[in-house]
Amino acid sequence: MLPRDRDGRILLKGVPRPQLLAWAGARGLRPGQADALWAALYRKLRSDFAVMPELDRAVRDGLAAETRLDVLRLEAVKQAADGTSKLVFQTDDGAAIESVLIPGPERATLCVSSQIGCAMNCQFCLTATMGLARNLSAAEIVDQLVLARRHFPDVWISNVVFMGMGEPLHNLDQVLPAIACMVDDQGLGLSQRRVTVSTSGLVPQIRRLVAESPAQLAVSVNATTDEIRDAIMPVNRKYPLADLFAALRELPLARRARVTLEYVLLAGVNDSLEDAERLAELVHGLPCKLNLIPWNPHPGSEFRRPEPERVAAFKAHLQARRLNTSIRTTRGDDTMAACGQLGRAPAEAPRRTRRPHGLPVIAS
Ligand code: SAH
Repeated sequence: MLPRDRDGRILLKGVPRPQLLAWAGARGLRPGQADALWAALYRKLRSDFAVMPELDRAVRDGLAAETRLDVLRLEAVKQAADGTSKLVFQTDDGAAIESVLIPGPERATLCVSSQIGCAMNCQFCLTATMGLARNLSAAEIVDQLVLARRHFPDVWISNVVFMGMGEPLHNLDQVLPAIACMVDDQGLGLSQRRVTVSTSGLVPQIRRLVAESPAQLAVSVNATTDEIRDAIMPVNRKYPLADLFAALRELPLARRARVTLEYVLLAGVNDSLEDAERLAELVHGLPCKLNLIPWNPHPGSEFRRPEPERVAAFKAHLQARRLNTSIRTTRGDDTMAACGQLGRAPAEAPRRTRRPHGLPVIAS
């Protein structure tokens, strides 16, 4: 049984190839026609049964009557001065979801959303202020890549990161089949090493992701003491740092595989050299890459981005501890497309200042 949309039409997107081929076979499609359907969806990126010359007329007409191709509509593409593009999609129920295309010299990365809003309530993130509206379906997750490829035919989108709106590990039942579609070598063809799922630290779901999917793992660490992490990331009250790192150390990672650890730098909160040293101790012996993200501002937030010298000193301290450390340069800032800026148009951003609970006073 494949999922259906609100009008009862069968959703073809977001169903991994073995299931889609089995479904097509049960409907009487010859194997060659079932393969052609898969290729039409994910290689040719077709949006209309009327233009699917690879399918027999009768098959095409039968599918057109009962099934659904695209589930998203590309509403707007906003290009930032640095080449980053924010793609705004419309869903069936009238919600807007966002992906960000980040072109680079060696790769082009699409940052996709997994939920509308988010339930994790991280204090420094704009998406959190929306709360969770709903999970995205596997079809809606895959369509972000399909429609981006279609809109940018000259860009080879080689990488996908689940770092847009939402907590992907809070929606694994839809994220896992979406990843299976993305890495299928007869379709969208992403390398398994180039799909990364980022989580705020849901420990049981981290284990499930690693067991059931070939994707790479990234974890948002963002603090080095439970006191600070409890205050800025409520998920820490359930899965504190010691539990999180114990789980990471026990993961059955492939040889040479590394976990990416993200660390959002918040001035006066988590950016001291003592923090850098505690971070080095936390990750000691864990195969990992550290990715420092100077905080991106959004209206109504009290946090501040540290000065570049402070970011550099934090990085230098970690490198002196022989840790693989990089700084995520801010991209797409002028279109509110940078990390933690997805979710609301700037004009709709909350006026009320959010005062993080229990946070130590931020030095100004
Ligand atoms: N929910 C997932 C993925 C989405 S957020 C997660 O938490 O990992 C992707 C990254 O952006 C996370 O590392 C998050 O900590 C970071 N982030 C959120 N708001 C930010 C902001 N305003 N500036 C910089 N990074 C931010």
